[in-house]
Amino acid sequence: MIVSKQKPFLDILTALETASRVFLIGCAKCATVCKSGGEEQLWQMQEELTAAGKDVTGSVVIDEACHMLRVQRDLRAKGEMVTSADALLVLACGAGVQSVSAGSDKSTVAGLDTLFLGNIRRFGQFEQRCSLCGECRLNETAGICPVTLCPKGLLNGPCGGMDEGRCEVNTDAECAWYQIYSRLRDRGEAAPLVTTNPPRDFAKHLKPGSLKLEK
Ligand code: SF4
Ligand code: SF4
Repeated sequence: MIVSKQKPFLDILTALETASRVFLIGCAKCATVCKSGGEEQLWQMQEELTAAGKDVTGSVVIDEACHMLRVQRDLRAKGEMVTSADALLVLACGAGVQSVSAGSDKSTVAGLDTLFLGNIRRFGQFEQRCSLCGECRLNETAGICPVTLCPKGLLNGPCGGMDEGRCEVNTDAECAWYQIYSRLRDRGEAAPLVTTNPPRDFAKHLKPGSLKLEK
């Protein structure tokens, strides 16, 4: 899921400086799970904006704010609540914000900072495990991603700073390559302390990415 958190309220107010009437948009998927843009957060935002002198014309939690057609449909359904607003405040990831700005001629304000693609460890605790590199190495690394878990993104074993299995950069964590080695050792598979993975092909991570499924 896409992990996000709300921007400081004062930053949001600054971005809404010229808008007195504001329509709020949340997302029922990732932003709801992150408690950054679900129903509850929209109500809180409405209260705070009202206390700050703004007129909140209405709100909607879109099923998936990254779904461009759905966004257009849901905004149309809100009619005058949207058309009478000076600005749309979006509590969704950057993809959701851009769905809204592409589907409306209103000024669109991002209320969240989008952080990373995350795994859910437990309720309210998210961890980055994949950096979307476009060339997955997990088959060679025992299912542990060195691109993400090694702060240096090393692909061929640990750096010289590893200290008894701990990472020299992220001192709270085990070295990614120590984790890879340990898992392979526990499975009785060859432990590639020195490997020869080819360098990353950054062309696989060209932006903007796009994918069209064959019918
Ligand atoms: S190698 Fe790591 S960053 Fe790349 S796709 Fe696989 S899990 Fe994601
Ligand atoms: S100690 Fe391990 S995880 Fe940390 S930077 Fe070096 S190789 Fe990467």
